[in-house]
Amino acid sequence: MRITLMGPPGAGKGTQAKRLAQKAGVPHISTGDMFRAALAAGTELGLRAQEYMHSGRLVPDEVVVGIVRDRLAEEDCQQGFVLDGFPRTSAQAESLQEVLADLGMKLEAAVNLNVPTEELVERMTGRLVCRSCGANFHRRFHQPTVPGKCDACGGELYQRQDDQEETVRERLQVYERQTAPLLDFFEQQGLLVNVDGRGSMQEVTAAILKALGMAGNDQHQI
Ligand code: AMP
Repeated sequence: MRITLMGPPGAGKGTQAKRLAQKAGVPHISTGDMFRAALAAGTELGLRAQEYMHSGRLVPDEVVVGIVRDRLAEEDCQQGFVLDGFPRTSAQAESLQEVLADLGMKLEAAVNLNVPTEELVERMTGRLVCRSCGANFHRRFHQPTVPGKCDACGGELYQRQDDQEETVRERLQVYERQTAPLLDFFEQQGLLVNVDGRGSMQEVTAAILKALGMAGNDQHQI
């Protein structure tokens, strides 16, 4: 599986990318997670990305492309990968193709998760994320069993700074301006796969696998 998950912020790219990567036994590569980890570790990369992330803007292309290039060159990506949140600009999409060509690989599909804008705002402003394992919850739609604690690992749940309403609206505008045009780019290459991103986590995963022609017998386990 060599795919990227596209779609606006809050569409469920992270959740679905994790599930697909686990099923296919390939790495889940999320540029947002990489920046958050770098920020938490206080590295130079994290500090550089911080001001962009907190205001909802995109980190400069050369920074993002550099970290993705290094990650894709690692051994564990040889059998495939699920990209999440990359590419987000035309320049990144072009660089991705160059990087993959250099590594002798090709993207198989760009899966676009469609979710109406009003639902995106509701999803993101209520989202809670585990500080330890990155699992997602929601104040209303997917409450943790113990308030403030992750069901999976017991870690502390927090609201991402960029999930505050004003920043969410900025992120959606940035998406429309800079990332949505990439859908045409992928469509022209015959790589675009549109999937309805509404419904339960399991339903969306099943819809993606079906759209990729990968719906298998073990679908109930995903
Ligand atoms: P995400 O977790 O994918 O929503 O990403 C959180 C933030 O990280 C974004 O709002 C950007 O500031 C930054 N970021 C993540 N991926 C990229 C990318 N491909 N290009 C530029 N900035 C990115």
